[in-house]
Amino acid sequence: MSAHASRHVSSLKLRDPEVAGAQRALLEGGRLTQEQGVRLFDAPVLELGRLADAVARDRHGARVYFTVNRQLNPTNVCVLSCRFCDYAKKAGDPDAYTMTKEQIVAHVDPAITENHIVGGLHNKWRFEDYLNVVRWVKEAKPSLSVKAFTAVEIDFFCRLTKRDAAWVLERLREAGLDALPGGGAEVFSERVRREIFHQKIGAQRWMEIHETAHGMGIPSNATLLYGHIETRAERVQHMILLRELEDRSPGFFAFIPLAFQPGTTGLVRRQASAIEDLKTIAISRLLFDNVPHVKSYWVMLGQDTAGVALNFGASDMDGTIGVEKIAHAALARSPVGLAEEAMVHAIREAGKLPVQRDALYRVIREYPRAEPAAAAPHGDGRGEQTAAASAVTR
Ligand code: SF4
Repeated sequence: MSAHASRHVSSLKLRDPEVAGAQRALLEGGRLTQEQGVRLFDAPVLELGRLADAVARDRHGARVYFTVNRQLNPTNVCVLSCRFCDYAKKAGDPDAYTMTKEQIVAHVDPAITENHIVGGLHNKWRFEDYLNVVRWVKEAKPSLSVKAFTAVEIDFFCRLTKRDAAWVLERLREAGLDALPGGGAEVFSERVRREIFHQKIGAQRWMEIHETAHGMGIPSNATLLYGHIETRAERVQHMILLRELEDRSPGFFAFIPLAFQPGTTGLVRRQASAIEDLKTIAISRLLFDNVPHVKSYWVMLGQDTAGVALNFGASDMDGTIGVEKIAHAALARSPVGLAEEAMVHAIREAGKLPVQRDALYRVIREYPRAEPAAAAPHGDGRGEQTAAASAVTR
């Protein structure tokens, strides 16, 4: 870290020896190791938060980014049966659905600037059907940035077409795709994969696909699904592998820790605690010296924890997410569809400056620090809830 780039980190006085050691390592231009990352989970959460917030402030000042977006889940029919997934249905199930062109086009609200498209691996759909989803969305609003299809879906398209990832990604880009979301990574542990998502691609394939995308100039995000059967060491190992990928082939906008929603999966009795959420966010901010943002994904964290996380290293709050189905199926507790004003209010409430962006992190609007006199329209920020909230694991 240069002296200028480390103003907030260098001025911190920390008491905990482990967190102070991490601060020293960062100031000396080093990066945190796997062992340090694991040990930091035993450090006091507030000390961790102070250091992670300083790192975020040195990168972004007080700015916190969000997008006015919608999640489009064109079908929940899926040929796989991941144990942690409450969303997917088999064809013929009474709750299975597949959206029509009209429904997909109607989903493109003129007010949104980003559409996030993920869904099931449909037993009858061809690659062309998925390309059409992107085309229809882009035709409905050409200025919309389209972030679509996880590495799991890209791998599925490769198998459908018998082509490689570069060919599939090029066709998607021609159809209108701008970026890849970060889902489907779950946790890079073969042990966990065998136990709860053995049919799904593993770490190597996920990373191969994102590396290919970055090499083609298609940016992406990266997620971690935590709070189920993984260990803290596996969580940190996941972050280190992603950090190495970013070294080899840069292109991640954000790292997104996703709190597992137990729903009716029976995998764990309850969601990870807010302390565990905040530690995971803070430690990821300290480990990722090469990824611009750590995201506080409010849909899974719940709005209160997500707001607090903005002082624990997170510099992005995802989006307003009009309609989403995946986490709703997993009984996510957070309010449904934060409207733009509520998002701005939540960021200000955390003492930060709201910045609206699109999927490519182009700034659309910077908001002033203070609320207008008649603001706080929703009191607790839960006012304009438009539809189903959910937790997207893929
Ligand atoms: S997590 Fe994705 S791939 Fe697995 S069952 Fe659910 S929708 Fe299908």
